[in-house]
Amino acid sequence: MRVDINARWDRLTALRHLPELADGGVELIEQPTPGEQLEVLAELNALLPIPVMADESVHTPHDALEIARRGAADVLAVKTTKCGGLRRSREVVAVARAAGLACHGATSIEGPIGTAASLHFACAEPGIDFGTELFGPLLFSAELLQEPLHYADGRLHLPTGPGLGVELNVDAVQRWTRN
Ligand SMILES: [Mg+2]
Repeated sequence: MRVDINARWDRLTALRHLPELADGGVELIEQPTPGEQLEVLAELNALLPIPVMADESVHTPHDALEIARRGAADVLAVKTTKCGGLRRSREVVAVARAAGLACHGATSIEGPIGTAASLHFACAEPGIDFGTELFGPLLFSAELLQEPLHYADGRLHLPTGPGLGVELNVDAVQRWTRN
């Protein structure tokens, strides 16, 4: 089990409760404290016997560099939307690889197009070496693709068509269009 605190705990709360979560068998802690407080994240990462993943702390290649310099995390959550697109995400991953940090293919709950893009990125980029969580479309009540993305056995399968491998259902999009 992994726990994402979403940057909501202050330092003292994190110092009090994160060791208990680690003792209880939690295998990874994601971003327990505010994103800008890298010194706190570094303190917690040094204290804990389990990996710390940075999410709200990493948007840019320079953020990745600062995290590496301070030893603030073991894993970076790379979201293609958060990091500014596919090319910029690649730069973040390149810094992480150079520093020996792992990268997780994370999600901002994108719809199927964004998820397909993130999936292709994760499959094409060897630096995404800590799994993915591209479940966004599973939370949507409407299907926006001609052929839905294929989830099975806890995995998302890479579409094989040209481009992103998916085709938008324009009728479905028009149904949800607001003027
Ligand atoms: Mg997160």
